[in-house]
Amino acid sequence: MELKCLGGVNEIGGNAFLLKNADTHILLDFGKSFKQEGRFFSGFLKARTSKGLQDFFELGILPEIDGFYSSDLRLNKKDTNITACFLSHAHLDHFGNINLLNEKIPIFMGETAKTIIQSIQDTSRVPFGRPFIRDATDEVPSNVRTFRTGDVFQLGTMEIIPIHVDHSIPGSYGYIIKGNKTIVYSGDLRLHGWRKDLTKDFIQEAKNSNPDILLMEGTNINEVSTMDEIQVREDISKTIASTKELVIANYSLRDIDRFRSFYLATKENGRKLLINTKQAYLLKMLQDDPNLDIPSVTDPHIQVYKRSKTKFYKWEEQLFEELHLVEKNNFDQSTAVFHCDFWNLPDLIDIKPKQHSTYLYSHGDPFDIEGELDFNRMMEWINHYNLKFKQYHASGHASQYDLIKIVNKIEPDLVIPIHSEQPELYEDLIEIPVLLPKKYHNIHL
Ligand SMILES: [Zn+2]
Ligand SMILES: [Zn+2]
Repeated sequence: MELKCLGGVNEIGGNAFLLKNADTHILLDFGKSFKQEGRFFSGFLKARTSKGLQDFFELGILPEIDGFYSSDLRLNKKDTNITACFLSHAHLDHFGNINLLNEKIPIFMGETAKTIIQSIQDTSRVPFGRPFIRDATDEVPSNVRTFRTGDVFQLGTMEIIPIHVDHSIPGSYGYIIKGNKTIVYSGDLRLHGWRKDLTKDFIQEAKNSNPDILLMEGTNINEVSTMDEIQVREDISKTIASTKELVIANYSLRDIDRFRSFYLATKENGRKLLINTKQAYLLKMLQDDPNLDIPSVTDPHIQVYKRSKTKFYKWEEQLFEELHLVEKNNFDQSTAVFHCDFWNLPDLIDIKPKQHSTYLYSHGDPFDIEGELDFNRMMEWINHYNLKFKQYHASGHASQYDLIKIVNKIEPDLVIPIHSEQPELYEDLIEIPVLLPKKYHNIHL
């Protein structure tokens, strides 16, 4: 077998791994590399999309492979030899480039991941390329296929087994891939979330497969320990209890576990959680998923905030017909928890938070210069309105302690660290041999 890392090397994200076994070629994830793009582009300094993907090829941001990309991108029309693409989960650093892929390549993803990607597509600006999830037409069938844990795929000379894991977005999977060798791909995972049992199932199945190679994420390989979600929920609840006026919450709207923590803490304190239309849209779509225990968007402790805009999107207008909405002047600040992320900070101008309000920031620390600049901008808003600042967060990724535990439990013959800024740390931390991959190099397994 052969492995070529097209991304996810010495960086957190941009995952894309090509696995070959005889004439079967499988692509594991095809994510955006924010680090590589950010090296060359920012704001109005953009790649020229009129040139197709040429700018990305020139700068080494995307791999130049015959037949790999969609036929609308004016590249040569060679047929692809990729049998299928398998996605681990619905984070952009894992799926964000699938809209560029040759439409003949089937893309497999979990049922829930598909729902989330569909909601991103419905409620965000259309990215360059094709839609992420393409509906079937009379001429072209959709190339999206979905699965749940328990499904096994035999494609050519490879067997691919998706197994659920716990991560900061529902519908996350790792994979066991059997060809001449057995390879385990961790995706992104953790052992300190509400659903750590999912990751434990994955570890057990991976161990049982007697793997030769483990492609292992290492986002937090330098973080000895991390807070867990239970602690986060308790801290949020205490902060709400000690705040007299408005609590403003900045959390990732697709992190359903964090949303649930905020919901429960809000309810415990007899308040109402005001969510934005994007989150309401996503919750409505996920509502029917039997495996997710998600509070309903019509729950008495949840309200949807209608922003002060003159023009709304069609998908928002449809929501307004079905839901009870709250506007800037018709809610009581002392009984509300108001979701307001970075992009919606101007909403504070409409709401005018009263003295003794709190801003609860529920993300990790910024990890690059752009992130620090945005963080400083957010702090300007917080200072302007004289808000009390609090930060509580549990990572979506396993701590160093848990990563070592996971690797030792799965017990592969070789570990290939990916999705990490410091993959070399694995060499000192585990006894199992480690191979540090190089981007675009073939590794014979
Ligand atoms: Zn990731
Ligand atoms: Zn992720």
